Order: sequence, then C-alpha cells, then structure tokens
Amino acid sequence: MRIDIITVLPQLLESPFSHSILMRAQQKGLVELNIINLRDYAVGKHKSVDDMCYGGGAGMVMGIEPIAACIEKLKSERTYDEVIYMSPDGELLQQRVANHLSTFKNIMILCGHYKGVDERVRELFITREISIGDYVLSGGELPAALLCDSIIRLIPGVLSDETSALTDSFQDNLLAPPVYTRPANFKGSKVPDILLSGNTPEVEKWRHEKAVERTLQRRPDLLK
Ligand code: SAH
Repeated sequence: MRIDIITVLPQLLESPFSHSILMRAQQKGLVELNIINLRDYAVGKHKSVDDMCYGGGAGMVMGIEPIAACIEKLKSERTYDEVIYMSPDGELLQQRVANHLSTFKNIMILCGHYKGVDERVRELFITREISIGDYVLSGGELPAALLCDSIIRLIPGVLSDETSALTDSFQDNLLAPPVYTRPANFKGSKVPDILLSGNTPEVEKWRHEKAVERTLQRRPDLLK
C-alpha cells in the first residue's frame, strides 16, 4: 500500500512513522509513506499556502491553488482509491473504516490547518472526509498519523502475529478481554487460574466470556 500525506508541517509527521510497528512496516516494504510539503506547490513571491477568509472573520484559509497543483501532480502519476481530507465534520474514524481502507492500494491524505481548506478543494478533489472525534485540533497531521496507524497495523504481515489485530477491541463488535503476563502472583494479586491451565479451548471460552462481559459493562451500544 502507498499512502501520500499532504501537509504544511512535514516535521510533525516524522516521529510517528519512525519507530516501532509503523517503521518496520515500511522497512518490510508493506507500506510506502510519502510526506509531501504543500509549500513546494505554493504560489506568488511569498510562497503562501493560505489567505484571508472571504466575507471577513478571524482565521486564515488554505487556498485551492497549491492544493490543486499538488493533488493533480500526484493523480497524474497513479490512480488513488481515496483522496481523504482530515476534518472534524467528516465521518467518524471507527474500526470498520480502518478495516476498509487497509484493503486499498493507493490513498492520499490532505491535512488542513488554520480555519481549514477552501470549500472548493473538498468539492472538486476530496472523495472521503474523516474525523477522529468530536473535538478540534490545530492541524490534520496528528489525525492523519492516527488514521495511518489504524490502517497500517491491519495490513497482513505488519504485526508479527497476524491474528493479533483480529483479537483487538472493536473487531466483531467486542472489546478485548483482559490480558496478563508474568509474574503469576504479584503481592497476592493473581492471574486467573484458567490462563495457567494450558487448556486452549477453555482459555478461548474464558476470553470470549470476558470480552462479552466487558462490552456489556462499558459499551453495550456495540452489541446492538
Ligand atoms: N474550522 C474548522 C476546524 C479547523 S481545525 C471547523 O471548525 O470545523 C484545522 C485542521 O485540523 C482541519 O482542517 C483538519 O484538517 C484538522 N482537524 C482538526 N480537528 C480534527 C478532527 N477532529 N478530526 C480530523 N481532523 C481534524
């Protein structure tokens, strides 16, 4: 899979992709991430990417010209399955959205800043708008990094144990059961006996029961 991220702050995206699972996914060639600096497509002698808002009011708006030039250049090189704009008024990022996007070959992600992007960018170029929750951040970079993490970890081969993404919360509409590691006894606080039994079918049954119990307690809405 190839992911192209368009941003005015490429530095903000360096660290999230330079460690652990996301870095190894790139090293293994399972994902190719390209961070594109929108300023390289800026117009005029000041090389600005934003301008004042028509109609007045506080805050700058990212202009259509550099964004159009950048998106058109990328689209001339390959076909994109989705051109995504990170936006608080978009579709909420949920596991099923990540599952779906993880099956694609090429996706492009546009990060907004300031008051957001000129509405015509959304009308003309964007195929999908995604929000990471009902709150407003200062830029789309952290939301984009979050979206990428949720997608990349689902690509077969990225996690060392491929089944592990399938047993995480929200797959099958269940929260994950509790997990434990050594020591089996921490100052009298013990790991449930069943997990030490070596009886795999019974362990699986226990895990399923705990997953249902936890979902009923914390997120009964998922079971509907
Ligand atoms: N004026 C806009 C917010 C702009 S915030 C509004 O009220 O809706 C600046 C940028 O940060 C946005 O363009 C978007 O790319 C990003 N952003 C902020 N909050 C976000 C969220 N919850 N989900 C996804 N992107 C977000």
